[in-house]
Amino acid sequence: MIPFNEAKNIVQSHSFQLGRETIGLNQSSGRILATDLKASMPSPRFDNSAMDGFAVRAKDTKGASKNNSVQLKLVSVSAAGSPSDAEIGPGECIQCMTGATIPKGADAIIMVEDTSGFSDSKSVQIFCEAAVGKHIRTKGEEISEGDLLIAKGTLVTASEIGICATFGYEELSVSQKPKIAIFGTGDELVEPGNDLKAGQIYNSNLYVFADLAEKARAEVVMGDVIKDDKDSLRQFLSKALATCNVVISSGGVSMGRYDYVRDVFMELGVKEHFWKVAQKPGKPLFFGTGQDTLIFGLPGNPVSSYIGFMEWVWPVLENMMSKKGSKPLTGTLTKSFPRESVKKRFLFGNAWIENSELVCCPASKVGSHMLTSALEANSILCAEPGDGILDAGDKILINVLPWKTIS
Ligand code: AMP
Ligand code: MG
Repeated sequence: MIPFNEAKNIVQSHSFQLGRETIGLNQSSGRILATDLKASMPSPRFDNSAMDGFAVRAKDTKGASKNNSVQLKLVSVSAAGSPSDAEIGPGECIQCMTGATIPKGADAIIMVEDTSGFSDSKSVQIFCEAAVGKHIRTKGEEISEGDLLIAKGTLVTASEIGICATFGYEELSVSQKPKIAIFGTGDELVEPGNDLKAGQIYNSNLYVFADLAEKARAEVVMGDVIKDDKDSLRQFLSKALATCNVVISSGGVSMGRYDYVRDVFMELGVKEHFWKVAQKPGKPLFFGTGQDTLIFGLPGNPVSSYIGFMEWVWPVLENMMSKKGSKPLTGTLTKSFPRESVKKRFLFGNAWIENSELVCCPASKVGSHMLTSALEANSILCAEPGDGILDAGDKILINVLPWKTIS
C-alpha cells in the first residue's frame, strides 16, 4: 500500500494531454478550448449610439430644457447597418438609432424621449443639454484588438459561444475527447431488466461510469460486463489497450480467488505502478500504463468505484483536455466524521451555507456497498489521516460534485 499523495504524483507524472480538433461553433458546447482565443477586432468595432435618438454637437444643446428648447436642423439618418456619410455642422443633427455609427462631427446623442421626436420635419426641438460623449459607445471601450478573450482550457458554454460569435469565429480549436473503455467483472453481475437468480446482483457500476464519463466530456468507445474468466478479459482488454486513451475497470482487482483483472493487465504488457493506495474506501486500486493508455482498476464495491472515479479518473480526464481542475473547499462539520490513522477517508456528504458559513455532514450510511449514500450527497468529503474521529465543529475538505450546487 502506498501513501495517497505518492500515488497521486505517480498518476500525474504519467498523465498526458490530447491533441486538438477543429469543430463548428454550433458543435462546440461542452468542449474544452485548446488554444487561447484573442480578439480579432476591437469591441465596439466603431463608435455607435447606445440609444435611439439624435446625434448632435454637445455645445449646440447648451441651455436646452423642457421649457426652453433648442432647435436643430435635421440633415440625415444613421441607422444600424446603414451609416450616414453626412457630417454635422453647427446647429445640425442626424437621427441616429441604437447601434448606428456616430456621424462625423457629432460628439453626443440626445435620446428621442428628450426631443420633439422622429418625424418628417426638417427641424427637431431638443429638450435637454447633452454632455460630450453622452450615450456613445466608443470604439474599443470593451476590448482592444488582440486582447485575450478566452483562455485555453476553458469549458465552452453559452457565454463563450456568444463571445466567439461576437468576434466572428465560426470554428473553434478544442481538445480531443479522451476515448475510454469501461468494463465490469463478476460472474454475479446481471443487467437491469433481467431476473436475478440466487447470489446474483445487478451491475450498477458501469451505468455510473458511463454517466460520469459523459459528464467529464469523455467518449466511451467500449463498455462491457465480463465474466470472471481470463480469456474474456484478455479479448476485451487487448482491444481496449489498442484503441483507448484510458481503460477503467470495476471489480476483480482485490485479493479474491477470481480477481483476474490485474493478472491479465500484466500478461498484456501493462506496466503496474501501484495497486493498493492508503485510502478508504477503495484501497485496492490498480494504476498502470500501456503504450499510450492509462489503466485504472477500481474496486467493485459501488461507493468505492464511484468515489474512485471522481478522485482518480476525473482529474486525469480533465488534464487530458487541458482543463483546470477545481480546488476542494474547506467547510465545518455539523456531525462527526470517521477518520482513519493512515488512510485518507472519503465519504459522500452534503455541503450547504448556514449563517454565511460553509458547513457539511457525511451521508448517514457509510458502507462502501451502500450506494444510497450518493443519493443524499452533493459532495465527497475527505479527511486526511489522523488519530480519532473528527468532531462536529472540525474542518474538513469538500469536493463538490461538479454537476451539483451548494445552497
Ligand atoms: P470485487 O472487487 O470484484 O471483489 O467486488 C467487490 C464487490 O462489489 C462485490 O460485492 C461485487 O459483487 C460488487 N460489484 C462488483 N462489480 C459490480 C458492479 N459492476 N456493479 C455493482 N456491484 C459490483
Ligand atoms: Mg468480483
